Amino acid sequence: MSDKKENLDMPLGEFREVGKKLVDWSADYLDNLETFDVLPKIKPGDVKSKLPQNAPQKSESFEEIINDLDKIILPGITHWQHPNFMAYFASTASGPGILADLISSALNVNGMIWRTSPALTELEQTVLVWYQKMLGIPNSFKGIVYDTASVSTLHAIASAREYLQAGIREKGMSGAPKLRLYCSEHAHNSIDKSCLTLGLGLDGIKKILSDENFSMIPEELENAIKDDRANGILPVCVVATIGTTSSTAVDPVDKIAEICERENIWLHVDMAYAGVTAMLPEMKTYFDRIEKADSIVSNPHKWLFVPIDFSTLYIRNPEVLKRAFSLSAEYLKTAEDSVAENYMDYGIQLGRRFRALKLWFVIRYFGVEGLQERVREHIRIAGLVAKWIDESENFERLAPTPFSTVCFRAKPKSISDENTLNELNEKLISEVNATGKVLLSHTKLNGKFTIRLVISGIRQEERHAEEVWKLLKETLKNII
Ligand SMILES: *Cc1c(COP(=O)(O)O)cnc(C)c1O
Repeated sequence: MSDKKENLDMPLGEFREVGKKLVDWSADYLDNLETFDVLPKIKPGDVKSKLPQNAPQKSESFEEIINDLDKIILPGITHWQHPNFMAYFASTASGPGILADLISSALNVNGMIWRTSPALTELEQTVLVWYQKMLGIPNSFKGIVYDTASVSTLHAIASAREYLQAGIREKGMSGAPKLRLYCSEHAHNSIDKSCLTLGLGLDGIKKILSDENFSMIPEELENAIKDDRANGILPVCVVATIGTTSSTAVDPVDKIAEICERENIWLHVDMAYAGVTAMLPEMKTYFDRIEKADSIVSNPHKWLFVPIDFSTLYIRNPEVLKRAFSLSAEYLKTAEDSVAENYMDYGIQLGRRFRALKLWFVIRYFGVEGLQERVREHIRIAGLVAKWIDESENFERLAPTPFSTVCFRAKPKSISDENTLNELNEKLISEVNATGKVLLSHTKLNGKFTIRLVISGIRQEERHAEEVWKLLKETLKNII
């Protein structure tokens, strides 16, 4: 204790000792993952009730802090790192990614402008070019890192709005013509949130009908644009999704791009989850014509083993993004402004953390081939699950499985009523999740309660999929 008083920060001897302990803690955690229930068996408020309501007035020891980490926090954790976390889009952090986060915090640099940390800016530029080449995005695009796809997309749509040159930057939205954005009815609701934020409003979104595979119908898009133009509404942006959130459907980017080119409308491609599969030659078919997009979002924090948060936006005409957001404040002017990139000019935020370290560590540690192998293996395992379902008498698949997400439901021969099937599947997923052995999530497709099983975690092997499939079959037997 007296030692602490003499030091302004934690003494370095203690930092080393505790740091090593916490690296061991992390390794033990990863080693013991499979002993935890994926979803904690607790109620809302349980964690809070164990925490003191006031901050400690006096210094506490790290021993006490770690003790509470084990006793209060860990039992309240949903284990995203667990190999049987197969819900949402399973996102995992790899060893090198975790360690990069530690270094990023140790350096604690703020990359608002080039001078405030040249290596942050230049490493971000370099690894984003690596990743861009891995995905086959032409080098004419410029990449930038944001925290999440929601924020990447917000910046893309802000660029689309600026691209109109409708004077909105100066005068705001009140004098602007009515604007419309188009996306499929299955697009992620981050698009809606961007429209809320940017003043387009929910009325500013037109959801385009999709076909039986949940892909946007280009003719419907064409008609919607025509109708709007006839009514004096100005089209601002089309969002095409490769890998929708519900069923991982793929919108026909080639046809949509043709329409956007002809109509001179900004095309944003949302491939937050599925984008990483563009690394694989056999998956290229899903990414046909992405080079026609004006902006593309892909999330390494989803399926490339980079700890959350890490989203990339690639933009064909970065000057438009810069036009939308750059302001120059006297205290931020530097001698290098004409030759160096200042990231503050490309978005809302001034401060930015050193995220590029995470992707740099991860790509170097696994190598492009190592990453390709892992993603390819996930697609293979998901394909197996799809096959088991197709071959089973009591289950059916409810959507194509182009990536690593399987959409299905139980459908015993004896039941044909849709409401009864929905209730049965709701019961099935809740019983299966209540075992703690797995976490699955759900969606609705054509009114059918749909179970989603996702394979995209770095620790997922075929045996985990087998275990979950067995559990689903056994649980179903017990509830029908
Ligand atoms: C996950 C996802 C998003 C949102 O991602 P965040 O990084 O959590 O904002 C957006 N679009 C698609 C297609 C997604 O899969």
